[in-house]
Amino acid sequence: MTITRRGILAGTALAAAPLGGITALAQTHTATPSASASPTTTGSRQAPGFYRYKVGDIEVTAINDGFARRPLEGFVRNAELKDVQAAMQEAFLPVDALPITFNTLVLSQGDRLTLIDSGNGDMGAPTAGRWMENFRAAGFDPGQVDTVVISHFHGDHINGLRLKDGTAVFPNAEVMVPEAEWAFWMDDARMNQAPEGMKGAYQNVRRVFGPIAKDVKRYGMDKEIAPSLTSIAAHGHTPGHTAYMLSSGSDRLMIMSDVTNHPALFVRHPDWSAIFDMDADQARATRRRMLDMAASERTQVAFYHAPFPATGHIAKEGNGYRFVPAQWSSQD
Ligand SMILES: [Zn+2]
Repeated sequence: MTITRRGILAGTALAAAPLGGITALAQTHTATPSASASPTTTGSRQAPGFYRYKVGDIEVTAINDGFARRPLEGFVRNAELKDVQAAMQEAFLPVDALPITFNTLVLSQGDRLTLIDSGNGDMGAPTAGRWMENFRAAGFDPGQVDTVVISHFHGDHINGLRLKDGTAVFPNAEVMVPEAEWAFWMDDARMNQAPEGMKGAYQNVRRVFGPIAKDVKRYGMDKEIAPSLTSIAAHGHTPGHTAYMLSSGSDRLMIMSDVTNHPALFVRHPDWSAIFDMDADQARATRRRMLDMAASERTQVAFYHAPFPATGHIAKEGNGYRFVPAQWSSQD
């Protein structure tokens, strides 16, 4: 029964029916006694989700913020569901819902700490919200963070900056955001004209940044915004969406942010568009350009939404690419 469950589901109306969003799905999957065990017991939980690697002299720590399941139906705007399901099957992933992981990066340079993106905070799916636990398990404290660099203003990247109750999570950090992203989302006229379904995203940006608006540092593209970290225009996913190049000695890491969502879909099929891509054509051109650069230069990459620890390389394959995860190392 267990063995054939996926096959049975794929062939039923259930698999194709609207699935009621991430929350309902996640609850179905997590409402078991072992998963709801106290966090102080091991229960069915994994070891803490952090992973360290070196880029030249810089220690990079990937910090996982759990995951959310997203119904596959309608997720890729310009592909048939059956083709998307085939790509999922090729990657040995479920064909009903995509598990989307969240992975931020901490850069340690001497005693300077830079965080790139902040996770879901306390506002994500029940299977997300693991960030603080993992960050602390890696030996960090939020009070130590000097700089938080934000790639774009979607909730899964900014909500970790401020709890639902308004508390600022990184009291001593300078917050840096892309200038173009700020200009777009903070425009009141644009918010007022936005379709009802989009207004919440604008309001959330104000919830997070409003109390610190005068202190938020806005950065441009092709600038060294923190030591060894250069911003790269990667617009399309959102109007100011930013990727980065981290360089130290002869080592480089291309930090892709949301240039792709899950690599099994959008690295393999770079012309597919996730519903989150606000300008699908621009996002597609950005994705092709960035993946091509990573493949031809053999540069190590990090993705926000790849399987943890979300770092590896890009190889050309057919009309698309393939994500090759880095080999786990017991030493950074
Ligand atoms: Zn994202």
